[in-house]
Amino acid sequence: MTEHPRGPVDWARQQQSEREQQPVRKLLDQLSDAELTALYDRAETAERRFQLTAGHLEETLGRLRGARDALAAEADLSRQVLARAEQAEAERDKACRAFNTKVIRVQEVEAALTETRHHLRYLLDYDGPRHCHLVPGRWDKDGSPCDHCARLATARATLEPKES
Ligand SMILES: [Zn+2]
Repeated sequence: MTEHPRGPVDWARQQQSEREQQPVRKLLDQLSDAELTALYDRAETAERRFQLTAGHLEETLGRLRGARDALAAEADLSRQVLARAEQAEAERDKACRAFNTKVIRVQEVEAALTETRHHLRYLLDYDGPRHCHLVPGRWDKDGSPCDHCARLATARATLEPKES
């Protein structure tokens, strides 16, 4: 017998023929005991496979839930770390502002001390006569401010106790 090359039509016919041979294609009352047993075995195998697949799915679902919870915990931790970092940054900024305020205050006090030092040096070095004005602190002839009296007034004010 010569073997002819098989095309797609031949292959499809063979598949159809094999399908018709399967017990499930017959009516139930035409099945033999052996075919029924085979059918039952196939059903049982399918059932086992289904349970196995369901088990795998359940296991995968459990792993996914675990991963999701781990991610949520990680995100929560990140938020806490970020909140602490922001708080630390705010405290650092506050400390910086307080420090800058103190630096400015020290500079103001140093400037006042320098001014007072100059007034005291002038007054210690002054060897001119005492003098007075018709209007205190202003020259009689043109009303312009007297530098000597202004320095005296500033030095006296420096010696007064300060309120702040
Ligand atoms: Zn004067």
